[in-house]
Amino acid sequence: MTRSKKSRQGVSVDDLVDRARKGDPRAVARLISLVEDASPLLREVSAGLAPYAGNAQIVGITGPPGVGKSTSTSALVATLRKTGQRVGVLAVDPSSPFTGGALLGDRVRMQDHATDPEVYIRSMATRGHLGGLAWATPQALRVLDAAGCDVILVETVGVGQSEIAIAGQADSTLVLMSPGMGDGIQAAKAGILEIGDIYVINKADREGANQVRREIRTMLSLAERDEGDWRPPIVQTVAIKSEGIDEVVEKLSDHRAWLSESGELQRRRVRRARDEIETIAVTSLRSRFADLHGDERLDELAEAVITGQSDPYAAADQLVASM
Ligand code: GDP
Repeated sequence: MTRSKKSRQGVSVDDLVDRARKGDPRAVARLISLVEDASPLLREVSAGLAPYAGNAQIVGITGPPGVGKSTSTSALVATLRKTGQRVGVLAVDPSSPFTGGALLGDRVRMQDHATDPEVYIRSMATRGHLGGLAWATPQALRVLDAAGCDVILVETVGVGQSEIAIAGQADSTLVLMSPGMGDGIQAAKAGILEIGDIYVINKADREGANQVRREIRTMLSLAERDEGDWRPPIVQTVAIKSEGIDEVVEKLSDHRAWLSESGELQRRRVRRARDEIETIAVTSLRSRFADLHGDERLDELAEAVITGQSDPYAAADQLVASM
C-alpha cells in the first residue's frame, strides 16, 4: 500500500485515516486536533477523509442554556448504544478559545461513556478560528463519520447565537425546550423554532410541560407544509431519568428514513457542501488579498478616497482587478 510521506510534524495522514477507520480512538482524536488547530496538514486530512464520509446521521442538538442539552446528549448516547450503533459526540464551543477538549473535563455526565470504545466524544473550541464554526465543524464531523459513527450528536456548549449555524450543518435538528423558561419560547420564536425537525420538551417532570407543548404546536401550525413534507413531532422527556429518550431515538430514525426517501438528505448535503466550499474559497481569497495588497495599498487607496481623487467603488474595483 502506498503511503504519503511523513510530514514535517512526523504524522502520516493516510496512516491516521486508516487507523481512524479501524476505530482507533487516538487516531480520531489526533485528526480532530489537526482540524481544530488549523494544521498545515488540513488539506491532506480533508482529502484523506473525503472517500469515507457520508454514512453518519448528523444530529444537531440545540436549545437555550440550562434546558438539558448535555443531559439529553448523554442519555441519547446510552440509548443509541443499546441498539448497537456507534456514536460520536461533538460538543462545539464557539465562545471558547481553549483547544484540545479542555471543556470536556467539565462535562461530567459524558464520563459515563468515556470507556466505551464505540463512543467518540470530543469537544472543540472554535473561537478565533478563521471561519470559526462554519469552517472547522464539517471537517471534525467528517473525521467521526469516517471512523464509522452511525450517529453523530453535535451539541453547542456555552452561550451563543450558534444554534442556527449548528442546525445548518446537521441532517436532523433536535430543538429542546423546557417548562419555566420564562420568555424562552418568545425569544426562541425568532429563530430556533423554525429549524427543528424534532421538538423535545425536556424537564417534563416539571409543571408547565403541556403549556409548552401547546405553544410549540401552535407555532408549528403556522408553518405551511405540503403533502409529503416532514411534520416535526413533539416529544416529552425527562432526560435526568432517561424517560422519553427511546421515543426521541425512534423519531430520529423516522426522520432519517424520510430524509433519504424524500431526497431531502441529498438537498441538505449539497447545500452544506456549497456553504463549505464558499467559506473556504472566501477565506482563501481574503488571505490572498492580504498577501497581495497589504495595508499600505489600502492606505493609499483610502487616502485617494478621502481626498476626493477616487471613490470607494472605483478603489474597490482597482483592488479586485489586481488580484
Ligand atoms: P444544558 O445547559 O442545556 O446542557 O443543560 P444541562 O444538561 O447541563 O442541564 C441543566 C440542569 O437541568 C442540570 O442541573 C440538570 O440536572 C437539569 N436537568 C436536565 N434534564 C432534566 C429533567 O428532565 N428534569 C429536571 N428536573 N432537571 C433536568
